[in-house]
Amino acid sequence: MDRLKDNRERVDILRREGTLLREEMKILLETLTEEDQQYLFQNAAETARENYGTDVYLRGLIEFSNYCKNDCYYCGIRRSNRKADRYRLGEDVILNCCDTGYRLGFRTFVLQSGEDPFFTDEIICGIVSKIKAAHPDCAVTLSIGEKPRQSYEAYFRAGADRYLLRHETINPLHYRMLHPEELTIENRRRCLEDLKEIGFQVGCGMMVGCPGQTTDFLLDDLYFMKEFGPHMIGIGPFIPHQDTPFRDQKQGSVQDTLRLLAVIRLMHPRVLLPATTALGTADPIGREKGILAGANVIMPNLSPTDVRGKYLLYDGKICTGDEAAECRRCMELRVQKIGYSIAVSRGDSRV
Ligand code: SAH
Repeated sequence: MDRLKDNRERVDILRREGTLLREEMKILLETLTEEDQQYLFQNAAETARENYGTDVYLRGLIEFSNYCKNDCYYCGIRRSNRKADRYRLGEDVILNCCDTGYRLGFRTFVLQSGEDPFFTDEIICGIVSKIKAAHPDCAVTLSIGEKPRQSYEAYFRAGADRYLLRHETINPLHYRMLHPEELTIENRRRCLEDLKEIGFQVGCGMMVGCPGQTTDFLLDDLYFMKEFGPHMIGIGPFIPHQDTPFRDQKQGSVQDTLRLLAVIRLMHPRVLLPATTALGTADPIGREKGILAGANVIMPNLSPTDVRGKYLLYDGKICTGDEAAECRRCMELRVQKIGYSIAVSRGDSRV
């Protein structure tokens, strides 16, 4: 009977029910034609519009430290990369970035860094509470890695609203291919569960086409996310960095990323789904394509221009020379060109 089902029907079921049997999902991912793909993207974009209209939410990304105690094989700021030019932003600089961002219409600030022990919980809480005091109508998102539950609780009490922590891959064997022994998927999961229980809007996600990834591992990720119920999902293509063990690995495909964005939109109609910088790096109009495949968030950089070129997780990162205001204008134009508009609001999850 299965053989009578075609990919359009699979997309219809996915849209209607928010899930598919694993075997059906596998066929969908592996046998999509160009035509099926159009149909999938159209359904995903319609689903995004039903829930969020043609609004695209902005998140101002402040990359405040590229020091990292971890040694993830894929990442350009891993501790073993002696060539990385390390920097930390002071509290005053971070607050200035937020002020600039606020004037440009940003209502969410994402503080991201490597896992840098210099930034103790006390320092992080101080920064978060100062941003919230200066801009009470804004959301603060942290993306600073794995911490003990007490630390997450302290950040939440200080006023942090959201937390991004990609699970990277839910399969323990695959996790081991991407990370050294000291990092485990068990702890990653514990972190995600703690964050959710504490009350954060939580984001997870993975790199598409990273070394060792198979369709089955991706299916594991899709069903894990369905069960976990994140408020945000960040996915982008894996892009090799020249000073990492994965320097000679193949880049993840833009097409696969777009297909997964669309599938994720159909599985999570209300999730906040960014068209990531990695997608914009892999394809000059990758972020626009992402929105047309169901994404509804863009995360332009608000870091000071003198450090932009130093927060390099992968090679070829875009916009490393632009001022925040330029990025803002550029995004406005890009989004308008495809019939969407940038919303000046916090853009909270409707999950
Ligand atoms: N230290 C923080 C922030 C990590 S950087 C944390 O642990 O959450 C944010 C994300 O960038 C990572 O979760 C990873 O999925 C992605 N990333 C890292 N290296 C990459 C690469 N080479 N290509 C594409 N994405 C990458």
